[in-house]
Amino acid sequence: MPTYPDRIVVIGAGPVGLCLALALAQADLKVCLIEALGDDNFLEQVPRAGTNHPATLEMYDRLGLYEKLEPRGIIAPVFHYWDRHEGKLIAAFDHAHLKDDTRFPYVLQCERIKIVEEALKMTKAHPNIDLRLNTEFISFTQDGDGVTARVVNPVGEEEVVEGRYIVSGEGARSIVRKELDIAFEGFTYDDRTLNIEVAYDFTKHGYAHRNYISDPDEWSNLFHWKGPPDRWRVHFPTDPRADETTLMRPEALQAQMQKFLPTGTPFDIIGSNLYVVHQRVAERFRAGRAILAGDSAHVNSPIGAMGMNSGVHDAINLADKLIAIARGEADDGVLDRYERQRRHVAVAHTQAQTIRNKRLLAERDPAVRKRNHDELRRTAESPELARRFLLRTALFESLREAEAIH
Ligand SMILES: Cc1cc2nc3c(=O)[nH]c(=O)nc-3n(C[C@H](O)[C@H](O)[C@H](O)COP(=O)(O)OP(=O)(O)OC[C@H]3O[C@@H](n4cnc5c(N)ncnc54)[C@H](O)[C@@H]3O)c2cc1C
Repeated sequence: MPTYPDRIVVIGAGPVGLCLALALAQADLKVCLIEALGDDNFLEQVPRAGTNHPATLEMYDRLGLYEKLEPRGIIAPVFHYWDRHEGKLIAAFDHAHLKDDTRFPYVLQCERIKIVEEALKMTKAHPNIDLRLNTEFISFTQDGDGVTARVVNPVGEEEVVEGRYIVSGEGARSIVRKELDIAFEGFTYDDRTLNIEVAYDFTKHGYAHRNYISDPDEWSNLFHWKGPPDRWRVHFPTDPRADETTLMRPEALQAQMQKFLPTGTPFDIIGSNLYVVHQRVAERFRAGRAILAGDSAHVNSPIGAMGMNSGVHDAINLADKLIAIARGEADDGVLDRYERQRRHVAVAHTQAQTIRNKRLLAERDPAVRKRNHDELRRTAESPELARRFLLRTALFESLREAEAIH
């Protein structure tokens, strides 16, 4: 019988794999972290997540990551709901209502790329982490004592990497999930989302750093990121029949922006991409010594900023359980609790909330729109209702509910 090294094999140096690796290493566990990208192209990844909720900031703080992110981000206590159809602000929610619930009564607008850059530096410096960049994971096997991963190393040779457990932080296309034949249940929206990044100051039009904009014809989101140059990201739905080249033509992007805010002068467009939005949750998060976390376990629309955040919450929950196992404080059945807790959050919170968020922004029925907007207004105006609303959107409620699951 092979003797496996006492270490955890983590696949993927995205926000989830990196936070997991750091949490394990800081508790004296050994980690082998496998990442397909290398130093030469790691920072070339497309911009994605960027709103970090208070509950996640507490976790970054535990890892020593928060202090590195704060100077690179924008502290945003307030977010807005707008009615684009009427050109009116519907409601402003202020995280100050959470001042007694958290040390971080705000979101930090800090993009995924900055988070992975800072976290990668920390993993490079940590003696318990064997970081293998430019290394592609291709398959794995497991038995009762450990796991064997097959990887292709930077010089193109196949190698095996062994450990006690394997965690897939590979993102939505997880090979681990596919090898385990775990269904990725859910659906994919017909309309792709167009993301346009512009250097323009939207605050002069009354916008907050983070805005959800409802419109029966064309909902959008508007988010601010720290530069230089400062950039704003605007999301729009697109016609499912439209072809990508037409949608992405510079004149089309410019026209789209002028329709959103007719300034009369061309916007300085500094980036754009088109992406497909899935709402899916893996049927299981664990099979023996293989565990799924983050996008490999669940994916959702970015409306509400819950994907990366809930993935980091998976990572911290899982780290604590792997640490307890390594210290002999729990047996490996505790990993089933990880699945029960985090799968519940993925289904009952992340999926439910993001699907509701999109419906709210895209609602066509004028009576339902009015009812929704009145409700948002009433909620924002009452300190107690606003606090409860923010406990949910800032993801504290999902953590408290998960804690109660045994
Ligand atoms: C436009 C957009 C906006 C978003 N905005 C938000 C937001 O505001 N807030 C939020 O919470 N979420 C948001 N999300 C979602 C968020 O980006 C993801 O949920 C998050 O990045 C998932 O992290 P992860 O670590 O699980 O996977 P990923 O970030 O996908 O990282 C996976 C890593 O694994 C590596 N990898 C993959 N396959 C292999 C392999 N075979 N071998 C070795 N390495 C491999 C990849 O190179 C990558 O580094 C957004 C997503 C999009 C598309």
